[in-house]
Amino acid sequence: MKQIPLLINGEFIASTSQQHIDVTNPANNQVIAQAPCATHEEMENAIASAKEAFKTWRNVAVSERARLMMRYQALLKTHHDEIAEILSQETGKTFDDAKGDVWRGIEVVEQAMNIPALMMGETVENVARGIDTYSYTQPLGVCAGITPFNFPAMIPLWMFPLAIAAGNTFVLKPSEQDPMTPTRLAELFLEAGAPKGLLNIVHGGADQVNHLLHHEDIKAVSFVGSVPVGQHIYKTATDNMKRAQCFAGAKNHSVIMPDANKAQVLNNLVGASVGAAGQRCMAISVAVFVGDSKDWIPELAEMIAKVRPGLWNDKDAGFGPLISDKARQRVLSLIEQGKQEGATCLVDGSEFTLSGYEQGNWVGPTVFSDVTEEMTIYKEEIFGPVLCCVVVDSLEEAIALVNRNPYGNGTSIFTANGAAARKYQHEIEVGQVGINVPIPVPLPFFSFTGWKNSFYGDLHAYGKQGVRFYTETKTITSRWFEDDIPHGPNMTISLR
Ligand code: NAD
Repeated sequence: MKQIPLLINGEFIASTSQQHIDVTNPANNQVIAQAPCATHEEMENAIASAKEAFKTWRNVAVSERARLMMRYQALLKTHHDEIAEILSQETGKTFDDAKGDVWRGIEVVEQAMNIPALMMGETVENVARGIDTYSYTQPLGVCAGITPFNFPAMIPLWMFPLAIAAGNTFVLKPSEQDPMTPTRLAELFLEAGAPKGLLNIVHGGADQVNHLLHHEDIKAVSFVGSVPVGQHIYKTATDNMKRAQCFAGAKNHSVIMPDANKAQVLNNLVGASVGAAGQRCMAISVAVFVGDSKDWIPELAEMIAKVRPGLWNDKDAGFGPLISDKARQRVLSLIEQGKQEGATCLVDGSEFTLSGYEQGNWVGPTVFSDVTEEMTIYKEEIFGPVLCCVVVDSLEEAIALVNRNPYGNGTSIFTANGAAARKYQHEIEVGQVGINVPIPVPLPFFSFTGWKNSFYGDLHAYGKQGVRFYTETKTITSRWFEDDIPHGPNMTISLR
């Protein structure tokens, strides 16, 4: 059985822990590896190694730190297919989808290559006579990252490259459900020439995370995952006086205006709703049909019904299995509740299974219409290939519905009317808005900006906000005397 190693002080080491978590192939639930639950001592060693490495790394020239990222980016691109294959095997994602997961991470490394420009401070000469003020951005120290199962390449790459390029060192606790991909990312980081201790990887669950949250040497915590865990991590990290940014769950609505281009709407909604088996934090899980656009629901349902789940290397598969049997049971129970609570199940994927892979976590594409706000399938984040269709009479009603929802990760509007799009983008209380773009994930020169229950914290991921999250600002006020004439005691606070 493949044992996933820890990465401590530049070495991949076998854990001495007696506790392990099985990593399974979601297509058939066979165990493909085991991840250790790092021991107390291993956790301490990982943090100590990052702390020691910080002493020298913070003084390495910023251009040298950028060059490490350039070498890393080149290696990630060379190994793109190979990483995607590992990712597919442990998540069940189709190969193309897995390649997208890796690619969106590579783009963040490309942003980290720009770190000299991103770390620039500000200067003002002569804030008072002969006195200048300027600011530097400086790294924080040891930062920690806790990541979810659904993007095992992209989300770790949201975090450690930018943190490390900014001069910090890092301890990553990846999802225990797919730790092979982050391990490969780390191997390539070492191959790119990363000095020992810059990146450390520990494995496990709540105990290992809590160790990081309570440790005085961890200065900042980045988390992506579910709402309850995100709330726990935000509260505990800040209670322990750490910086925290916690990206959590979502329920993303797409609003369909009757003047939108029907073919574009339907084609986009199919992939945005059931792609990646709905296991994307930016997936569209609610389609809000305004007025006559409701007549398109049957055709949308027909199109979604034709999407077939399959194995990662099946080119015709629309998406793969869910990550675990637990996730599958949860989604099936939500589908059942949808039926019982009165929604109309136009497409029912609950009986789907893949021939020869009956033990896998399969759920077929599912579409509900006549969904109301009170129903469990509307209120809960399903995180499965399930689309809920809601009908409203006006754009105003659609905006009010989306704004009442406690989540605010992403949303989109389909329309041919600029004024409607402008009203939507202005009034909607959601952090990422697409106009005729179903899943508006920003590229890394912007930031990933969830709102409400989709994000706890102040500074978002990557982009300029990511750099600010991983740095502290130091403001210096400086005067150099040109003569040695004593000016006498200065009794005021004025700089004049
Ligand atoms: P999860 O919350 O179960 O796990 C995330 C991480 O937290 C894992 O590393 C896990 O080991 C750790 N963890 C789990 N329980 C813990 C506990 N009690 N205490 C401390 N740590 C704990 O999430 P998941 O199922 O892996 O991922 C799916 C969730 O992530 C969905 O809710 C999805 O919306 C969300 N997500 C959000 C974004 C975003 O940007 N907002 C992006 C991707 C995923």
